[in-house]
Amino acid sequence: MQKVLTEIKDFVKKVEYKAPLAPYTSFKIGGPAEVMVTIEKPKELETLIKFINENDLDYFVLGEGTNVLVSDKGYKGIVIKFGNSFTKIKTDKSTLIVGSATLLRSIIKKASESGLSGIEHLAGIPGSLGGAVKMNASAWETEISQAIIRIDGYNSQGEKIEYIPRESDWGYRKFKYEEIAFITSCSLRLNPFYYKRIKEKIDGVLAYRKSSQPANPRSAGCVFKNPRYFHAGKIIEKLDLKGYKIGGAQVSEEHANFIINLGKAKASDVNKMIEEIQARVLQKFGIKLELEIIKLGEF
Ligand SMILES: Cc1cc2nc3c(=O)[nH]c(=O)nc-3n(C[C@H](O)[C@H](O)[C@H](O)COP(=O)(O)OP(=O)(O)OC[C@H]3O[C@@H](n4cnc5c(N)ncnc54)[C@H](O)[C@@H]3O)c2cc1C
Repeated sequence: MQKVLTEIKDFVKKVEYKAPLAPYTSFKIGGPAEVMVTIEKPKELETLIKFINENDLDYFVLGEGTNVLVSDKGYKGIVIKFGNSFTKIKTDKSTLIVGSATLLRSIIKKASESGLSGIEHLAGIPGSLGGAVKMNASAWETEISQAIIRIDGYNSQGEKIEYIPRESDWGYRKFKYEEIAFITSCSLRLNPFYYKRIKEKIDGVLAYRKSSQPANPRSAGCVFKNPRYFHAGKIIEKLDLKGYKIGGAQVSEEHANFIINLGKAKASDVNKMIEEIQARVLQKFGIKLELEIIKLGEF
């Protein structure tokens, strides 16, 4: 395995072995990846996918790691990140053509400066475009899906895909068209509007987030999906769990659906917290809380 993995250096320029993953996640938790590659050119990705298939290797595409909990044992596979060459934004009238590693924050800024409206409600969601599309990131009735008119990428066999998504491809926190394993860029169709009004909306959304979410940035946002008809946070609050600690992990005092890393939390602390909340909610309310965040590695 080790010998096979060292061969990656032959066709990808940026390769790191035993790469610590904690710095690449918002939780700031977790062990190393066996290998981490940063893709700067489509050719590198095409060759890597072929190599992965030939050697039957595990891989995970990591965006900004704002929705991921990495195991303390790390990940025994290849973590693939898209580098700076995938952070470009082109404007064509009311359409933005954006690289998948571009931060959502930069896209919202560019859209507002271009007098384009439609994604202001997503302000304050950390992460990259690729992650936002895979998760169908949303806030206040606005989903990223509403703006996406085209997705470019590759399937798991390394074939290039240009896809026009349909409404039925999108679910709650999920892009259901799984054929696209690697998103390289997307086109967003927005609506011309007044810069000042767009800016006001963004400022309002950011102010609300600041007042309702933890100041501690070491979290992955909402841990559980909202069950139908209920808010997961309100259910957890009813169990009086705000402020509850396991090791270095704590249920946020500000928002009960956030688990925060107080500084030295282990992934196992967060995982224990997840399991305890799920068990208590099931016992008290008969509701099975589903994870929104993604666990990576062995737990
Ligand atoms: C403080 C805080 C607040 C948050 N608030 C919200 C919110 O209001 N609404 C919301 O929806 N989410 C929220 N989130 C969660 C998170 O920010 C979003 O899900 C975000 O879109 C994830 O993007 P990412 O780049 O970090 O993806 P990651 O967490 O790195 O990955 C998420 C998924 O996307 C896949 N992926 C990433 N990039 C690519 C790519 N290029 N090609 C293929 N697959 C890819 C990964 O494999 C993984 O399955 C919040 C998180 C935090 C920390």
